[in-house]
Amino acid sequence: MPAKKIKDVKKAEAPAKAASGKESPDEPSMIRGELCPFCNQKTLALMEKEMEIPYFGKAYIFSMDCENQECGYHKADVESAEESKGPVKYTLEIDSEEDMKIRVVKSSSATVKILHVGSIEPGETANGYITNIEGILQRMKRMVEKLRDDAEDDADKKKAKNIIKKLTRAMWGQEKLKITLEDPNGNSAIISPKAVKGK
Ligand SMILES: [Zn+2]
Repeated sequence: MPAKKIKDVKKAEAPAKAASGKESPDEPSMIRGELCPFCNQKTLALMEKEMEIPYFGKAYIFSMDCENQECGYHKADVESAEESKGPVKYTLEIDSEEDMKIRVVKSSSATVKILHVGSIEPGETANGYITNIEGILQRMKRMVEKLRDDAEDDADKKKAKNIIKKLTRAMWGQEKLKITLEDPNGNSAIISPKAVKGK
């Protein structure tokens, strides 16, 4: 019976595939139960993943997530696996909904500036991630929404509201925005033929 044979072959192959899965470049490796630097519980999960990003090359993605729900500590970063590229700077003008899909690799050492809107600063608490332009605008929007909610001054509140409006319109492709991304370590990129790369 050929059907049974195929089933048997599949069954035999399954454990072998699972065992070799660890060496596959796309399979994340996980370590759980590490000490969390924030809550001091052994609830930290570490993840490391290797990824091939078109027009960027091989990259490592790391993350730390505390599984203690009361803590929720999160840290993530991305690093190019290629030879050190040195400082990079990208400039991009967006003007359409299509631009929202442009891929962005942003490491924790990168600064993202949106002209007349604001910036995402690097530093100790900054995270690295792979996202797209929409993801960057969403993060910026959440930051400005917090500023709006915390603002005690009416003028500051109004300013924040106008920036939120601007970002929303940009996401709909109805507002032009200029975005720059700078990374002294070369672990970041805006991946689009529209992006202008400088030093
Ligand atoms: Zn924790």
